[in-house]
Amino acid sequence: MAWRISPKIEDILKKGEGLEGLSDEEAVALLSLELHSKEVYALMETANAVSREQFNGKGENHFHIGLNAEPCPFNCRFCSLAKEIGIFTSNVEFTREEVVTWARMAESQHADALNLMTTGTYGFNRLLEIGSVLNKDVSTPLVANTRDISHREGEALLKAGFVGAYHAVRLGEGRDTPFKIEKRIRTITVLKDVGLLWMNCVEPVGPEHDFREIAYLMVLARQYGATYSGVMRRINFPGSPFEKEGMISELEMARMVAVSRLVMGDVPRAHCTHEPHSASLLAGANLFFPEVGASPRDGRADTGEGRGKSLAACRQMFIEMGWDPDLPSKLFCR
Ligand code: SF4
Repeated sequence: MAWRISPKIEDILKKGEGLEGLSDEEAVALLSLELHSKEVYALMETANAVSREQFNGKGENHFHIGLNAEPCPFNCRFCSLAKEIGIFTSNVEFTREEVVTWARMAESQHADALNLMTTGTYGFNRLLEIGSVLNKDVSTPLVANTRDISHREGEALLKAGFVGAYHAVRLGEGRDTPFKIEKRIRTITVLKDVGLLWMNCVEPVGPEHDFREIAYLMVLARQYGATYSGVMRRINFPGSPFEKEGMISELEMARMVAVSRLVMGDVPRAHCTHEPHSASLLAGANLFFPEVGASPRDGRADTGEGRGKSLAACRQMFIEMGWDPDLPSKLFCR
């Protein structure tokens, strides 16, 4: 059978291959392609080739440590930590010793970064304190994942030893969360202003999201110069308000990962996906988040005992799919 794809899609893929980045309309055209079509495999092949060359075959493991699990009053509808969901009824804060033990374990297993996540009301000074402790104890780069911050707080993160921060305008921001898109974007500009690397993901994707909303966030990540910006799907924990909507499959996520990869052009230093799975490693992704501690996707306080994938499991997935987790990461090189 002849290998034919439509001239319009071929042109978009050529543009993606040339690392020019794609427009909203071009992203929507790719997101609308039928799964299992020749076009989707051509899209994934293009994104895969671009990433393997640009990231030099390196598989990145950024180890997520959720510092606390507590009923969060902000009540984002997709989050298992939301107070209204009722899964967590009391506060769990992991001790400094537990966090240090996790960080040392991650360092010994060659994690490329430590992502420290907090709920929306976690004390900012406590995050700074833990950052300072880890900065002295391990050599793995630190990334913060916390609430919106001011310039003064951004500078304090830098001083405590953080090199970057994960911060996303979420799908459904202002609709499924109480936060304004403008406020989230302001924090992204704060990160850039103070010299923290900005890490992003288009998330949490569910079947209910319009391709235009998804494409808008993909393009926003390129415009604001995200260090990485892949795709994470929404996970339905027991009692999730999105149970009726269901979840997107790993294959659908791989199609989106490929689109976001081509949208990002020559901007990113890696391309993430979550939760870790193999399909996206053939579609442009090279960055996983193994996890312990709190997770907004889990009903367990320590996701290392629940949904969270271990570093060993993530390393194995990379090796199976031809990415090398032992190469040195260049992501934090200035
Ligand atoms: S996503 Fe963050 S701010 Fe929103 S409910 Fe969960 S922990 Fe709170």
